[in-house]
Amino acid sequence: MSVIMSLNSGSSSCKFQLYTMPAETVICSGIFERIGLPEGVYSMEFNGSKISETLPLPNHQTAIQILLKLLVDHGVVTSLDDLAGIGHRVVHGGEKYEHSVVFDEEVANDIEMLCDLAPLHNPANLLGYKVLKELLPNTLQVAVFDTAFHQTMDKVSFMYPIPLEYYDQYKIRKYGFHGTSHLYVTQRAREILGEEKSRRLICCHLGNGGSLSAVLDGHCINTSMGFTPLAGIMMGTRSGDIDPSIMAYLAQKEGLSVAQITDICNKKSGILGISKVSSDMRDIEAAIAEGNENADLARKMYVQRVAMTIGSYIAQLGGCDAILFTAGIGENSVPIRQLVIEYISEAFSIKLDVEANQKRRQEVLISTTDSKIAVMVIPTNEELMIARDTYSLYQH
Ligand code: AMP
Repeated sequence: MSVIMSLNSGSSSCKFQLYTMPAETVICSGIFERIGLPEGVYSMEFNGSKISETLPLPNHQTAIQILLKLLVDHGVVTSLDDLAGIGHRVVHGGEKYEHSVVFDEEVANDIEMLCDLAPLHNPANLLGYKVLKELLPNTLQVAVFDTAFHQTMDKVSFMYPIPLEYYDQYKIRKYGFHGTSHLYVTQRAREILGEEKSRRLICCHLGNGGSLSAVLDGHCINTSMGFTPLAGIMMGTRSGDIDPSIMAYLAQKEGLSVAQITDICNKKSGILGISKVSSDMRDIEAAIAEGNENADLARKMYVQRVAMTIGSYIAQLGGCDAILFTAGIGENSVPIRQLVIEYISEAFSIKLDVEANQKRRQEVLISTTDSKIAVMVIPTNEELMIARDTYSLYQH
């Protein structure tokens, strides 16, 4: 039995989960939040208990030090030597990383070089590694990349139609994100449906960020996020795909810098920007129930974009065996799933099982037996995928 920690180190938070492997039993989970702000907070669940505390968390170093101490103090591990490996979520692995790898100085340097492409995420992911390398120098660390699953896309799908030299010079291309989630959910679908009935899958990861992927025989052939996570469908606060000229036009009209416009597209657009209510689908649903027209427009736009992306992937896959919904909205929002499927039901002979669709946060088939394409909800589990890859590298 080996203990593996899966760690998602973000800019102001650190999410962790400990597993015993190979049983894949969660023995502890929790989060440190508000790192770097005047007052931080952590919560941690283990062995049926839940603890939380508000305390100063000036930086990631302090948060991770406290985490390691808590694990020993509460007997989650007898000693830190029990930790066989630590798996890190890393958002951007560029073109080099198609799989998870042992996190060493060379990998750290590569991730550092990619900070440009994922300025909100990669530096924080790297920080988690650096702090743990100092605190536990002999413990295996593994990097698990959000981009890795999408590396099987071919050039036709990942190139942008801009002058070729920008790809050669700057590696400007589609990378795609949420890969660990798309991999988990499509693997799970292949287990549940059997490989023959899940050759052509469309995975809809609909959370605060959102992306879809087209997966053929377990390999990603297209995905909706691009060079950065700003591309693709409309999201909580991100615009998704828009005419790129809008940015230059707005910059000129409003006297704003490129960085400011990019910030607007990342943080003030999407569902929030249109609804003027919130980026959270729960608030949107409540506002629609009260007759808010902007919220209704935002949801209709969101649904159309998800549905049209599914349609384009059905074309690329040459048909589809199953559509899969996952992440916060995909797992929980009964209306979004219904509206998306209704949008494409006539074109693709898909029939929703309205009663089954009432379920939330569980694996469930939500299409009828005579639907031409199966539709399923599969809760994602990125932490488990990280733990699996870490354990696998630990064994080798
Ligand atoms: P994630 O990024 O996967 O954690 O998803 C977070 C998002 O899921 C939230 O911002 C909400 O928009 C959405 N969400 C969570 N729970 C529900 C729910 N019960 N109904 C509708 N949307 C939900």
